Amino acid sequence: MPVTSQVEPGYLRKLLPASAPTVGEDFQLIADDYLKYILPGLTHWQHPSFFAYYPVSCTFESILGEIYASSMSSPGFNWSVSPACTELEAVIMDWSAQILGLDKSFYNTTEVGGGVIQATACDAALVATVAARSRYIQVALKEDVDAGLHPFILIATLGTTSSGAVDRLDEIGDVVKSHPFLWLHVDAAWAGVALVCPEYREACQLPAINSYADSFCTNFHKWGLIQFDASCFWVRQRKHLTDALDVTPEFLRSKCGDASTVIDYRNWNISLSRRFRSLKFWFVLRARGMEGFQKHITNCIKLNARFAQGIRESDQFSFVAKPFLALTVFRLAPQSLSHLTTSELNGLNRAFYARLAARSDIAMTQTELNGVFCVRMSIGAERTVEGDIDKALVVIAEEGRVALQEWEDMQTQVGLYCVP
Ligand SMILES: *Cc1c(COP(=O)(O)O)cnc(C)c1O
Repeated sequence: MPVTSQVEPGYLRKLLPASAPTVGEDFQLIADDYLKYILPGLTHWQHPSFFAYYPVSCTFESILGEIYASSMSSPGFNWSVSPACTELEAVIMDWSAQILGLDKSFYNTTEVGGGVIQATACDAALVATVAARSRYIQVALKEDVDAGLHPFILIATLGTTSSGAVDRLDEIGDVVKSHPFLWLHVDAAWAGVALVCPEYREACQLPAINSYADSFCTNFHKWGLIQFDASCFWVRQRKHLTDALDVTPEFLRSKCGDASTVIDYRNWNISLSRRFRSLKFWFVLRARGMEGFQKHITNCIKLNARFAQGIRESDQFSFVAKPFLALTVFRLAPQSLSHLTTSELNGLNRAFYARLAARSDIAMTQTELNGVFCVRMSIGAERTVEGDIDKALVVIAEEGRVALQEWEDMQTQVGLYCVP
């Protein structure tokens, strides 16, 4: 299979009938059509040469978790509607907090803090914002009368999507200390799972997270071996979530919920109904163990070090940001062309990236850092091995060389036309 889909926009509407069938069809026919029409339109994120965006996991055990979970209707909004959904989620969130080294105050067993699975990191940030606003409004009413601005949340990032940048959480911690109503949410959607390896905890600023964060989020569905959607969200004070989000009409009341002896996770997120996502966590955490996660993370980081070494040794490419964990941001910057301006180099790199993007056997993503156009190499598919990294280095060298040649030819032509 190619890594990226090669279809043109609108391809599918041309292939499918204009309306749903009146009479049901045989499933074999439907399954055949899936292979014929849908599969060619899918990009293979678990392909060993997928280095675009960020990884999105798709492990065998998590596929089973999805199938098992979807074999029963279990919208799990209250403990009482399917107790295992809530209880398993509470347990696996504690297991996950433990393997990442998060402070015990984030555990569900504290009955004060706790963890909840959200669909996405964006949802987690929104929930943190809603909770922070509600906490702030409750305490800061007098000041609201003033016309000034009232910051109530600070969202710091551990590992930005674009370049893997890490905010200085220790410095942010000082700000938060002097502004006690500022809620600190740490978005570690991609990089957070690296905390599973003790050797990366310092670089990922775990001590500051454990000291200062009101909430923390990481996506196990990115680099953490669990199928989308699996975004983990922990808070130090669950009360702030439930204060902001609890809506309890009579028909949602239950004996245990009223007595607050159980978690009703509907009050920990925006939606009411929720998918039984803890099952796939349970399957994968058990099947792989903490060591399995560590192995996956260190393996990807080693592969990235191999790629980064290739960039370092080349006189064709240079780093645009310091390689971090399993991400390298680089650009074509031949030593022979050190006199080019940023905008000329950007033009060259756009041409270089266009060549990469036109290939179906490898996938990388473009980005821009402070006006510098560059290319991201993000490693995280489980099946990627050293050979795939070496192939990627060969591909970029080749496409870089052609892009450069074309660019030089163009310059010569421009020169010829300009010379009278
Ligand atoms: C990927 C990413 C997001 C978005 O994650 P979703 O789960 O798709 O909402 C947010 N923040 C960071 C740092 C990310 O890497």
